[in-house]
Amino acid sequence: MEKMMMIATSLNELRDARRLQEGTIGFVPTMGYLHEGHISLARRAREECDHVVASIFVNPTQFGANEDLSNYPRDLKHDLTLLEAAGVDLVWTPTPELMYPPGFATWVEVEGLTGPLEGAARPGHFRGVTTIVTKLFNAVQPHKAYFGQKDAQQAAVIRRMTRDLDFPIEIVVCPTLREADGLAMSSRNSYLSPEQRTAATILFRALTTAKSAYERGERNAGSLRKVMQEVVASEPLAQLQYVSVADYDSLEELETLTGKTLLSMAVFMGKTRLIDNFVLE
Ligand code: AMP
Repeated sequence: MEKMMMIATSLNELRDARRLQEGTIGFVPTMGYLHEGHISLARRAREECDHVVASIFVNPTQFGANEDLSNYPRDLKHDLTLLEAAGVDLVWTPTPELMYPPGFATWVEVEGLTGPLEGAARPGHFRGVTTIVTKLFNAVQPHKAYFGQKDAQQAAVIRRMTRDLDFPIEIVVCPTLREADGLAMSSRNSYLSPEQRTAATILFRALTTAKSAYERGERNAGSLRKVMQEVVASEPLAQLQYVSVADYDSLEELETLTGKTLLSMAVFMGKTRLIDNFVLE
């Protein structure tokens, strides 16, 4: 008979459930409203580890004051069904009160890498991410933790934090899953109107156009930024926030491409903010 998936809410429930698990633990942190991208992380963890733990927590401290915290989509029942089908053993669904009790005053901050791109567009975002991921890591104590390339800078920041703070955890970064038309899967895609949803392929098209230019030999970063800007500008429903052609490791903007490069962008479709990226090897 299949083992039942366990669900923990309090820290004590989580710890009790974790104590019953022997062998390697793979951990998949999420904010819920799960799609195939999240589930691909759980499947990878299932393949590589003896036990798979997932968390669902919409972390308030990584949202800016004018962002979508109160509207963030939720469907716990559906999430649990998907996680169980993916072979997850234990799901932790803590509450904001549990994670941030009155008087909470301790933050984890990664310098440098968090400055540009998402860090510049969303001040305080990464401080919230690194603090909650530290708390989740400390509670779950996984051997491996799974993150998506979709959030490229987040993956880089978590990797750096894990190294700097000596967490004995291997960070595994998994490929971005996309819809058939190229749109990167995201919980936030549910905000899009049908017209915006169609137009939202503009991120993928801009990245693809820049990649083609690169493959034809273009090595000037400014030219590649211009290519992406022009493609996004051709879509009236899209408003570009930033495009970047940066060194993959340092995330510093490049003049000329020499090594591994991150093409990334953030685009507003109405009020909905979408991000996407490609890696050029
Ligand atoms: P979120 O629930 O948005 O915090 O995402 C939880 C994890 O799933 C993060 O590590 C994301 O990078 C990852 N993720 C989100 N979307 C995708 C996707 N389309 N493909 C792969 N991983 C994803």
